[in-house]
Order: sequence, then structure tokens, then C-alpha cells
Amino acid sequence: DRLVEPTPKDDDLPVETGLRPRRLGDYIGQRKVKENLRVFVEAALQRGETLDHVLLHGHPGLGKTTLATIIANELNANLRTTSGPVIERPGDLAAILTNLEPGSVLFIDEIHRLNHVVEEILYPAMEDFQLDIIIGQGPSARTIKLDLPPFTLVGATTRAGLLSPPLRDRFGVVLRLEFYHVDDLRVIVTRSARLLGIAVDEDGAMEIARRSRGTPRVANRLLRRVRDFAEVRAGGTITREVADQALQMLDVDHRGFDRMDRKILATIIEKYDGGPVGIETLSAAVSEEKDTLEEVYEPFLIQEGFLKKTPRGRVATRLAFEHLGVPYRASRQL
Ligand code: ADP
Repeated sequence: DRLVEPTPKDDDLPVETGLRPRRLGDYIGQRKVKENLRVFVEAALQRGETLDHVLLHGHPGLGKTTLATIIANELNANLRTTSGPVIERPGDLAAILTNLEPGSVLFIDEIHRLNHVVEEILYPAMEDFQLDIIIGQGPSARTIKLDLPPFTLVGATTRAGLLSPPLRDRFGVVLRLEFYHVDDLRVIVTRSARLLGIAVDEDGAMEIARRSRGTPRVANRLLRRVRDFAEVRAGGTITREVADQALQMLDVDHRGFDRMDRKILATIIEKYDGGPVGIETLSAAVSEEKDTLEEVYEPFLIQEGFLKKTPRGRVATRLAFEHLGVPYRASRQL
């Protein structure tokens, strides 16, 4: 049960829906992504055509689902939402596609988890708005083509690298969401606080933003947890001091690292002399699965410059030493 986990927890979901910005103008940060989308949406509307298929990729909690909803709103289109693992058989996808209103946005979350058979149905659907259906088996099998209503597919993935090249190539627009700047997160915290009726001053919002790991979902979750603390211990208003005390108590340090993040860095520094250490070895040393290390813990540590990936393994940087208060020793083996 990790407080700074970027994937949604059960108690995030009901709150998140209410916090989702609905228009591009309310979507905070990600300037380049927004500028691009605005142009594409505008052009599609002017031509009266569907928007090209859009692939959104980025770590969990950065706003892919939100953006899919916004795209549909900006296009004044219906939105149908599903996800890769839910579509098990070709028939499941065919049913969805044939039932779309013309011009709809179909959002497939975790699109890298579609299975191959289903994926192949998607190719002609994306390219020509056609469905190839095979009827019968063996020598008597034949293919019939069904016309589909035109639609825009918005696919989201946390792992663009896992998408098969033919699928990836069929997206006309590929947008990558980055971790958010702390100033943008501060705006997000302030906006969410307003919507949830939470009193937070500017410094309080900034303190939460700083510890939110570049991720709006984490920012919104920390805000709610700090609110609880503020109400019970501090008269209700979140100031910098209140946020600091609450987050310290919740074991989220001033860079947004928790115990496991610090354990990873400390292990590399103390057991492996700062690295390089192979991911398998590291995984055994901290008792955490290799995939979890790579997908959940490392991206933010790398992004923040605390950890470096080298061909010979992971290396703790000067920042990591400083964060843990250990005198810096440059890795001798590099
Ligand atoms: P993802 O689909 O990438 O996991 P979501 O779209 O579900 O992420 O976003 C998680 C939460 O973060 C949502 O509740 C949303 O309110 C908030 N959020 C994400 N991006 C933004 C943004 N740019 N501005 C404001 N809030 C955002």
C-alpha cells in the first residue's frame, strides 16, 4: 500500500472523476501536447472529418484518460471507453466497433495489452473503417467486409515500446506525456483543493506539489491525505508547515521519495559502492520484482537524476549520495 504509487487506488477513483478537467483549456501543463492537439482538433472540425487516431503514452497518472475525455469533448463527439485486457476476443472488439455512433472517440486504455488476434481486427478498422470478418473454417472459409462508422481511436499506453510496430504505425498522432513541472502541479493542487472545498494556501500547495513525483494523480492523493491531517491536527487549513508535518508522518520525504525509493538508493550506495549494479542483483537485494523496479520505482528516480542506467547496471548519482547524507564517491568502475 504505497502512498506515492502512480497507478490508481480504489479510493482515488470516485474522487478523480470529479477532478478531471473537461476542456483543453483546463488541462494544466503539457504545453506541447496541448498545442498539437488544439491544431489537430481544429483542423478536423474545420474539415468536418474525424480526427486522426491518437496514441498517448506516458507513465501512469499523468493524464492520459483525462486527455481522451477532453479530445471527445473538444470534438463534440461521443466517447466509448474500454481497455486492452478487457477485449478478449475479436467478437468483443467487433461488437464495440459496429455499435459506435459516427464520429465517436473510442478510447482503449492499456492498448499494449491487446492480444494479437484482436489487434489484427483493428488494423483495417483504423485504416479504412472496415471490419474483415471470417466466416466458416478451412477451405470453405471466406472473408466478408463490413463498413464501420468513422471513428477516432485514442490509445493509451504506459509502455510505448511494447506496442507492435504495425499498430503503432497506424496512429497519425503520437503524443508523449512528460512528468509535470512543480509549478504546474501546484496549480493542479490548488484547483483540486478548490473543487473539493479544501483550504490550502500557496506555500502549502507548493509543498504538496514538490512531493508529488511529477504526477497529478499522486498530487491529488497527497492533497486528500494532508487534508485529513489538517482537519484533525491543524484547524483545517493546509499551510506549508502542515503539509510538511503530514507528509513526513506519511513517510514521503521532501523530494517525494518514500522508504522504498530510499532503500534502492541506499542499497546501491552502501552494498555496491554506488554501482554499477545489475537490475537482477538489485532486485534481489531490495526484495522487489525486477519489473516493478523498472516500471514503478526507477522512472522517477532516473528522471530526477538520482539514478542512472548504464550498460553495466544502475549507478547512484551525486544527488543520491547527497540526499542520503553520504559523502559522494564517483563510481570507480565506469
Ligand atoms: P492516466 O490515465 O494517465 O493514468 P488520468 O487521466 O486518470 O491519468 O489522471 C489522473 C488524475 O490526475 C485525474 O483525476 C485528473 O484529475 C488528474 N490530472 C491529470 N492530468 C491533469 C492535468 N493536466 N490537469 C489537471 N488535472 C490532471
